[in-house]
Formats: sequence, structure tokens, C-alpha cells
Amino acid sequence: MAPYLGERFGNPSGIHATARQAKNSIEEARERIAASIGAAKPLEIVFTGGGTEADNLAVTGSAIGAPGSVVTTAVEHPAVLESVRFLSRVGYDVTVVPVDHAGRVSPDAVANAVDSGTAVVSAMTANNETGVIQPVVEIARLVRSVNDRVLVHTDAVQAFGSLPVAAGRGGPDLISVSAHKIGGPQGVGFLYVRDGVQLEPVIHGGGQELGRRSGTHNVAGIVGLAVAVELAVAGRSDYRVRVGAARDRFEQDLRLRTNVKVTAAGADRLVSHAHLRFPGIKAETLLVRLDFAGVAAAAGAACHSGAIQESHVLAAMGVDSRAASESIRFSFGRGDDAATGAEAATIVSGVVEDLS
Ligand code: PLP
Repeated sequence: MAPYLGERFGNPSGIHATARQAKNSIEEARERIAASIGAAKPLEIVFTGGGTEADNLAVTGSAIGAPGSVVTTAVEHPAVLESVRFLSRVGYDVTVVPVDHAGRVSPDAVANAVDSGTAVVSAMTANNETGVIQPVVEIARLVRSVNDRVLVHTDAVQAFGSLPVAAGRGGPDLISVSAHKIGGPQGVGFLYVRDGVQLEPVIHGGGQELGRRSGTHNVAGIVGLAVAVELAVAGRSDYRVRVGAARDRFEQDLRLRTNVKVTAAGADRLVSHAHLRFPGIKAETLLVRLDFAGVAAAAGAACHSGAIQESHVLAAMGVDSRAASESIRFSFGRGDDAATGAEAATIVSGVVEDLS
């Protein structure tokens, strides 16, 4: 990325040599990302300012592009849920499908919410708080059996590093990905838009990205995004083994030493996520003590003020507010393995013992 923050400063929309160099770099990034996810054409990749923007473009852009109702799930990221609320405020019919106690959505329930007037169904590949994986391909199949014009969107922001996310037959029409969740820079991402899908832009202006996302490109970010995507795809199996070993060892050691409860233990979860409850210990207290001990964890949804808001994901799973206030989320990543999982468990169980 470094040259694009310095001597290669060109704006890809210009016509001089420096601009052409920048333009070539983003088109190369587009080709590499398209190849990495099995997209049929590079132009199916629309660069955005991150996952939130990709979700807004997918949900709002498809509902307005071919007007119709919107169906989503109760555990989506706010980028989707707030887009859906916006559409509801301006008169669109929306249905938010509930989840079971393990945070799973039923494909039948999603299909039952779809009719001939549905424009878009948005169901995330995996949840950012619990790591619970949704049956997106099955959802796509069932909703298309009810209405074959419906667009299927999946927010794959959290899942991309560990699960195969593929464009193409049978898969979603729209896929959101964010660079900073896969080791890339913040503030850049992309939306895969299947060839032929018409979206109404949500950012209007100079017509970049074939009019689908106006605004001068973040060239350095896009170059970094492409590298992050390639590394994530190439390293996925290794990631699953190593990071899974870290998370499993962490949970196993904590089970032996504390009375931890693992959220959604029975569901299919991303290997990176450990969402845990330590009964009797407030999440805020635990987070502060863990921070002192050098462990970064999270609770609820981190809002812009840094305050902890009660999690809509846990509420949708029927977790009561006391249990929710005692729950925290750990995520492991590239660089972790069974040894770092064990080390984290030693620190966390020490702090939990202290607070018990
Ligand atoms: N969707 C999910 C599932 C996420 O976890 C996040 C980020 O936390 C987003 C969307 C938003 O992505 P970004 O931070 O790139 O705007």
C-alpha cells in the first residue's frame, strides 16, 4: 500500500499517466478479488468504504432498485438492521425473521416470509458476536423456490477469513466483505454484485464504479484489500486449524477451571469466536480487569461512544438481560494457536477466580 500513499498519488478518474497507474492498480485489484471468490467478471466487484457501506448498498440499493419488500434476520449487524429500519420508515414492508435459542435462523421461516413482492433477502454468513453460522446457501435455494426474482444478500464480513465464500450458481447475488476483518486496512471493502443485478446507488456523485458507488477511490486501501483477500483465501484451511485449536483449547481450559457457559455451544460456529458467560461476574468489571491483564475482549455491541449496549443478538436468542450482562466475547485470529489459547485461558481464569 505504501507507494499509493506517496509517489503513486494519482486519482484513478484522471487521464494523465499517474492517474492511469492508479486506475490500473484498482483494476488489477478488482481482477484478483474476482478470481479469489470465483466471480464470473471483475466488474461484479464494487469497491466500498467498508462492510457497512457494502451492506447499505446491497439492502437499500436492491429494495429501491426493483421496489419490493425486504426480509432479514434478527441477528444481523446494525449495518443491515438499520438499513432495513430506514426502508421501513420510508414505507417499505419489512420482515425480521427470529432465531432459535442458539442464534440459528430457519431457512423455512425465511422462505415463509418471502412472496412474489419480495425484493431482497439479507441473511449473514456468520454472526459477529457469537460466531454462529447461518445456512445461507439453503436459504438462497428455498427463497428462490418461492420467488426466483428475489435478490439474496449475505454479509460475509465476519466469516470471510474462515469459511469458503463463493460467488456463482446457487450462491448469493450480493456478498459484503470488509478488509479490516481479514488483516487488511480499515475503511475499505467490497460488495460482490452478480452480473445483471440492478442496484440503486446509495452514494451519488461522479459516477465511479459504473455509477454504483461514487467518490474518489481509496487506491491504497483497495490495493491492501486485494492482498488481504488473496492471503485470506490461500490461508483459510491453515487458519481454521490453528485458530480453531486456539479457541478450543481456550474454552476447554476455562471449562476445567471456571463455571463458564459457552454461548451457542451446540451450533456451528466460526472457529475464531468464543462467546462466554461467567455467572455472577459483570461483563464491564471483567473487561476492565482483562484489559489490565493485557487481554482485549468485548461485550454487547461496541457503539461509537464506547459504552456497552445490550446485545440485540443475545436478546433475539432469548438470553435474559442478567445473563447478557455477564457475557463477553473473545476472538482469536491469525497468529494464534493452541499455545496462545492456553495462555489466554490462564489469564482469564485467574481474573475470574479473583472476581468470584
Ligand atoms: N457486518 C459485520 C458482520 C461486521 O462484523 C461488521 C464490522 O464489525 C460490519 C458489517 C461493518 O463493517 P465495517 O466495520 O467495515 O464497516
